[in-house]
Amino acid sequence: MAKILCVLYPDPVDGYPPTYARDSIPTLRGYPNGQTLPTPSGLDFVPGELVGCVSGELGLRKFLEAAGHTLVVTSDKEGPDSVFDRELRDADVVISQPFWPAYLTAERIASAPKLKLAITAGIGSDHVDLDAAIKAGITIAEETYSNSISVAEHAVMQILALVRNFLPSHEWVAGGGWNIADSASRAYDIEGMSVGVVAAGRIGQAVLRRLAPFDVALHYFDTHRLAPEIEDELHLTFHPDAASLARSVDVVSIHAPLHPKTYHLFDAEVIASMRRGSYIVNTARAEIVVRDAIVDALETGQLAGYAGDVWYPQPPAADHPWRTMPNNAMTPHVSGTSLSAQARYAAGVREILESYFAHKPIREEYLIVDGGSLAGAGASSYTTDGTISPGSSGR
Ligand code: NAD
Repeated sequence: MAKILCVLYPDPVDGYPPTYARDSIPTLRGYPNGQTLPTPSGLDFVPGELVGCVSGELGLRKFLEAAGHTLVVTSDKEGPDSVFDRELRDADVVISQPFWPAYLTAERIASAPKLKLAITAGIGSDHVDLDAAIKAGITIAEETYSNSISVAEHAVMQILALVRNFLPSHEWVAGGGWNIADSASRAYDIEGMSVGVVAAGRIGQAVLRRLAPFDVALHYFDTHRLAPEIEDELHLTFHPDAASLARSVDVVSIHAPLHPKTYHLFDAEVIASMRRGSYIVNTARAEIVVRDAIVDALETGQLAGYAGDVWYPQPPAADHPWRTMPNNAMTPHVSGTSLSAQARYAAGVREILESYFAHKPIREEYLIVDGGSLAGAGASSYTTDGTISPGSSGR
């Protein structure tokens, strides 16, 4: 029987909602590329319920305990005396999530001799030291596509929020004012602007598709060029690198995984080469940009705005400069954990566990590392050369 250690974000400080804002979530038929939704044998929660936090337990307890396994759920993940570190020593499976990452460093992997499977509840497994996991023979899996559209919607929202100066305008009315000139003095239309996407994978492509009706000129950079039919359909301009894209557009939206080749891609030099008054939205990973280069560029006006939902580390300190830098529209790491997204990734985690315990292959598209190398989705999206490892960079 296995021990499953699950690290989730804390419960709402205001308590569980006595009722939800809506009675149900839409039923999807599949993902845009034809991939099927998760197919667990059953679910012990109602889709639309809050299952992503500690008390929600991803809806896994009944299923796991009925099969004789042990489930430990905690949000206590920092420091050598954390519940995570203590319970990790004899855990067989770890479930963690990008929103509240339990950084699975090489040291932690070395402290967990029984660990065989690390599941990311969501998408993006950069909180795991992939090199160390490969060496230790650990399988890493995530629920590919489960929250890609959720993030794309958030990115489009934040682009519009920045360009149209939404948050300051809202704050004027919420504070009793009617300050139209103040609100308008930084507000523009995106119509006619150039918008560029860094990485046109599942999320990046969904952003491009959602922005096309706004009559913007669409650009992208990806290490894998899209099919000519897609480029033609969306009138895309391809760039050979991020620097070329950055200097050609008014708005950049970042959607690449974090790995050695994307770490600090947007540094002071690249940002200085952008048009004055550009906007950056980053819902991918914080360390793809240089933290203080963003702050400096907002202060000088080189950037007109920065938004996103990803920070480093997570949770960030109370004095993290991105909380207070000018013209930011940051949120906590929430885009991929809407109630709609949680239902899908919780079902996907259960599907992965069911496959694992039944000794059946985990879906190829869910795999990041397997059999001692990058695999599945991981083989096309990640590189590993040991130059960054979670918990050791950029802090
Ligand atoms: P995906 O695998 O479908 O797409 C990733 C794309 O990145 C691929 O097209 C790949 O070719 C491209 N890429 C990889 N390395 C690159 C490089 N060096 N330069 C340019 N392009 C490169 O993944 P996805 O579902 O679109 O997710 C992308 C990332 O978004 C995840 O890895 C994760 O970090 C982040 N994400 C964030 C949230 C959130 O809640 N904010 C949720 C899900 C995913």
